[in-house]
This record gives sequence, structure tokens and C-alpha cells, in this order.
Amino acid sequence: MNSVEKSMKEYIEEAEQDLLHTYNRYQVVFDRGEGVWLYDMEGKRYLDFVAGIAVFALGYGNEGYNAALKAQIDKIIHTSNYYYNVPAIEAAGKLKKVSGMDRVFFTNSGAESVEGAIKAARKYAYLKDGRTDHEIIAMEHSFHGRTMGALSVTGNPHYREAFEPGIGNIRFAKLNDFESVEALVNDRTCAVIFETVQGEGGIFPAKEEFLRKLRALCDERDILLILDEIQCGMGRTGHMFAWQKYGIKPDIMTTAKALGCGVPVGAFLMTEKVAANSLTAGDHGTTYGGNPLACAAISKVLDLFEENHIIEHVREVSAYLEKRLDELAAKYDFITERRGAGLLQGLVFNRPVADYINAALKQGLVLINAGTNIIRFVPPLIITEEDIDKMIEILDGCLAG
Ligand SMILES: *Cc1c(COP(=O)(O)O)cnc(C)c1O
Repeated sequence: MNSVEKSMKEYIEEAEQDLLHTYNRYQVVFDRGEGVWLYDMEGKRYLDFVAGIAVFALGYGNEGYNAALKAQIDKIIHTSNYYYNVPAIEAAGKLKKVSGMDRVFFTNSGAESVEGAIKAARKYAYLKDGRTDHEIIAMEHSFHGRTMGALSVTGNPHYREAFEPGIGNIRFAKLNDFESVEALVNDRTCAVIFETVQGEGGIFPAKEEFLRKLRALCDERDILLILDEIQCGMGRTGHMFAWQKYGIKPDIMTTAKALGCGVPVGAFLMTEKVAANSLTAGDHGTTYGGNPLACAAISKVLDLFEENHIIEHVREVSAYLEKRLDELAAKYDFITERRGAGLLQGLVFNRPVADYINAALKQGLVLINAGTNIIRFVPPLIITEEDIDKMIEILDGCLAG
């Protein structure tokens, strides 16, 4: 314990001195959580509709999850990928089962999963024709992470410009505009990558017809379909992975965020066909990825999803969230649209939303934007109708101003 207790304001000042200023942070220090509630250092309570950006699906302080992590800490936290470990083997098996994919590579983050997916796709194409100028088609408004490869396939030019050149040979098409993709395909195209539901770029779900046509095109040309499920996956849309709704399957899939429910993990998964014809020993690696602690988290998260019928719950409760958000959209003419899937929803405003989000925070409600004009709703998946009513009540008050 410090001999002198620091105040929340003092910690914030210290953070602004010491941390690299890459975020304009909200003026709050969260100290602990319980279910769908967060508490700041001063004991003020907040209803959480952000979940650490679609991460903490099971709510804070889940006893089973915490106990599994504590038990693993007392056993062993880290070994190395040069040795086998039981939590990784179990987590991989469970992840295969819920995804229907065949092979798993564990990473430390979403961006790192995207990097791995890109490498696998390039290697797959390289083994076919020996060329080193393969192209990847990505989508406008996409977000795939901040590392150089993931950034290079991210659609928003503002994120990329200062850091160019990226990895190169990336072309951008429009989500849900099949012809715009088709027009970019040539004999160097090795992959098409997109989020099944675009998150950061404004909550745009891919349409079924677009997915089906792309799947057929990729099959015909032996191009790999990479779906980024980092935000929209892990039950959030009422399916374990959003693409499972459409009866199609990607060749490579990325996941992260809710996969570890707060422990920093990710994974990319592929079909046996891709696995057998892409990355082999020595091609890819990570020191931490898939370590026993991280995989104990994944393993327990997947158990708890099943035991607590999380997906069924999301389907029920998200219908209610949609209804309540639609009511708000109807009430205020500056809200132009509600869109999304399951518990990944956006309210589109005809004006910036920052002031509303700050007002909500003051009233004890945590919300986040997606772009300047959209309030995004990505609550813990255990949210109830009562929590939704409470959220709407506070937000309605802020909108009425
Ligand atoms: C958050 C996110 C990423 C990046 O994940 P990090 O863990 O922040 O690297 C990539 N893709 C999508 C769709 C995301 O939402």
C-alpha cells in the first residue's frame, strides 16, 4: 500500500505524464467490476455497454472463470511453443468444435491473428505458383488492427497514411458490392479479407448474398476467403461466429477480443486444405501465443458459453435491445438509423456523438462510438432486459438533454 492514497485525478495526471498519448481517454479510472457493472476508484457505479470493446462477454467477476485462471497460475503460466501443454490442446479442440475449422494457431491479439492469416494466404498462393507479387482484396471502412500487415488491409486511409508504405499489393473493394470485388480479381489475387460484421468502421453487416457470391468466386478461382471475426465472433451476433448464420465457411478465420474474456489472446483458424498447403515448421511463431494461462482462459470461456447457454441468451436479449433502440431512433429525428446484428449494434446520428457519450458516462453509463456519428452497443453477453431498460433510460435522458 502507498503511504499516501492517490486520488483518481492524480492518477489521471500521472498517466498523462507517463503513457504515450495515443488515446484521448475518458476521465475515469475503473477499479473493479461485478457482472455488468464497473466501479471507479471513488466507488461510483457504471452500467457497462462496452465490455472493454466486445471483450468481457461473461461479465466481471465470473467465479468459474476467475477460479480456472487462479488454478492455472498456481500450476504453470508459461512454457514455450517448443513443448506441448494441456490447456492449449484442450482449447484448440474446443475451438475446432465450435467453429468447424480444422487447425488453430494461438496468438496474443487480434492484429496478430490477422498477420498470421495474411501470411498463411500468401504462402498458400506462393506454393501454387512461386510468385511473390500476390494481391489481397480488403474492404473500405474495414478495421483489422494496428500492426503493419493488419493496418495495410484496414480501409480507413486516415489510420494508414502516415505509416505508408504498408505491406503492398492490397486493393480495396466495397462491402456488399460483389461487382466491386469481382472487378479487382486477377491471377495474382490470393485472398479476400473482411469482417462478417464491420465493427469500428460503422457496424455494417455483410449481406448473405454477398457472402454466398464471394464464396463461390473464391472456390472458382482458388482464392482464400478470410473472415475477421475478432469483434463480431464469439456469440455476439447470436451465432458462435457470425458467418455460421449463412451456411458458408471461410478458408481462414480470425478471432480474439471475447475469446479470452480479458486475457490477451487471439487465434487464426484454417481448413485442413489451407493448413496442408501453407504454413509449416519454421514459417511462423510466437513466444507467448497459446501459453497455458491464456489457453486456460479460452478453454474455460468456451465451457462457460456452453454451460450458460450464452448464444441462446444473446438471441433472446438482442431482439429486445433492437426493439428498444428502434424506439429511441423513432423518438429523435437526429438519429437516422439503427443497424447491426445481435449484441453488436449501432445508432447512427446526423451529428457527432461524443457529447452524448460523455453525458452518459457522467450519469453512470459506459458507451463507445464507432466513427464520429455512431454510438456502438457491445455489452457483456450476459446483459438482461432489465439492464437494457436501465441503459435506455439513462441514454434517453442524455439525448433529451
Ligand atoms: C479489435 C479488432 C482487431 C484488432 O484486435 P487487437 O486485439 O486490438 O489487435 C482486428 N479486427 C477487428 C474486426 C477488430 O474489431
